[in-house]
Amino acid sequence: MENFKNLGISEPVLRSIKDEKFENPSEIQEKSIPLIVAGKDVIAGSATGSGKTLAFASGILKTCEKGKGIQALILTPTRELAEQVAQAISKFSKYRPLEVIAVYGGVGINPQIRGLQTADIVVGTPGRILDHVERGTIRFGRVKTLVLDEADRMLDMGFKDDVERIIRKCPTERQTLLFSATISKEVVQLSKSYMNKPLQVSVDSYVDPKKLVQTFYDIGDELKFSLLVHLLKNETSNLVMVFCNTKRNTDKVTKNLRQSGIDALAIHGGLTQNKRNDVLSSFHSGRIGVLVCTDVAARGLDIPGVSHVYNYDIPRESKGYIHRIGRTARAGAEGKAINILSRSDYDNFTRVLKENDVEISEEILPAFQKIAIKMPERGSNKPFIRREQISSKRRLRQDRSTPQRRARRN
Ligand code: AMP
Repeated sequence: MENFKNLGISEPVLRSIKDEKFENPSEIQEKSIPLIVAGKDVIAGSATGSGKTLAFASGILKTCEKGKGIQALILTPTRELAEQVAQAISKFSKYRPLEVIAVYGGVGINPQIRGLQTADIVVGTPGRILDHVERGTIRFGRVKTLVLDEADRMLDMGFKDDVERIIRKCPTERQTLLFSATISKEVVQLSKSYMNKPLQVSVDSYVDPKKLVQTFYDIGDELKFSLLVHLLKNETSNLVMVFCNTKRNTDKVTKNLRQSGIDALAIHGGLTQNKRNDVLSSFHSGRIGVLVCTDVAARGLDIPGVSHVYNYDIPRESKGYIHRIGRTARAGAEGKAINILSRSDYDNFTRVLKENDVEISEEILPAFQKIAIKMPERGSNKPFIRREQISSKRRLRQDRSTPQRRARRN
């Protein structure tokens, strides 16, 4: 505990850290906490999984007092992240309880209005926070600490104007902390406009590269799903995340995985918030082992125990790759990122390799069973899986076929 204490963390928070069984501060905690508890404005380059929540919580929990109005406001890009951060802060404040509330859209507003009347700390998404501003149900006059969590993502998601409107509502006399996986031009711009002589700290990488193995398979489009099923059934894994680029593909892959006997659930922006929360809690608790998701839904989530990340589609944005693989090999655990490429992913994959400092090695295709995927007819209960054995030799032959021939086959 000495090493946490030396950073300047207050006694009640140290006790909760002990309960969490954290042994040593993470790199971002070591670098940022002394500055944060000293009241400085800080820009921290780090993604989730780095321990950033404790970093800003240790500052907030040092200055917040119960029943004195909203003293800390944390903005997050997604609802799930708001929920997760609020839960983490509640945990860290268990020996000096404060009222922490998560405020986001997609759920009823009235319980939030009631909660805001007594809240000490608010964690929320920009849209719903502004909704409360317009209704006059949230007041920022007592805010001492403002945190912009995953600032790059908030800007990418088009929240720039909303975030700025909220910042301008906060007292100018305040501490501002900005956490961001990438320090883009826009992030720097934001910090210049709204931060007071910020100090910058960063950690070298989001995940421990020594603990993360990254591989790819190059395969025809028609065999992608079969390979995914084979790997899911044969790789020794804990929790698994499968990333797709669209909601449609996420649903299609999930449905077909379930038909193949794999316990999978989908999460994407098209689901109601309650459904998203249910899916996440099933995954968190290990009731289902495979979460098929889009980037938005999975962004920033801290789910311990994710051993494998599959890219069923390669992300269009090369930084998205880094965010995805950051879901595994967290907090010192080992992880594997497996990319299943077909022709339509080549451009995206080339960008990932060119724009990121990553090492991804090619894997030899195993022998696996071919599974034909097809969407079920409406109202039909007929199973729609057809299997045939496919040998690795035959697959390699198919792989050498011309794109034209492949197109005809499809
Ligand atoms: P965060 O980046 O805040 O989402 O944290 C990622 C995960 O690391 C969470 O599950 C934290 O509980 C955990 N964590 C945070 N700090 C430490 C630490 N010093 N040692 C071990 N685990 C930690």
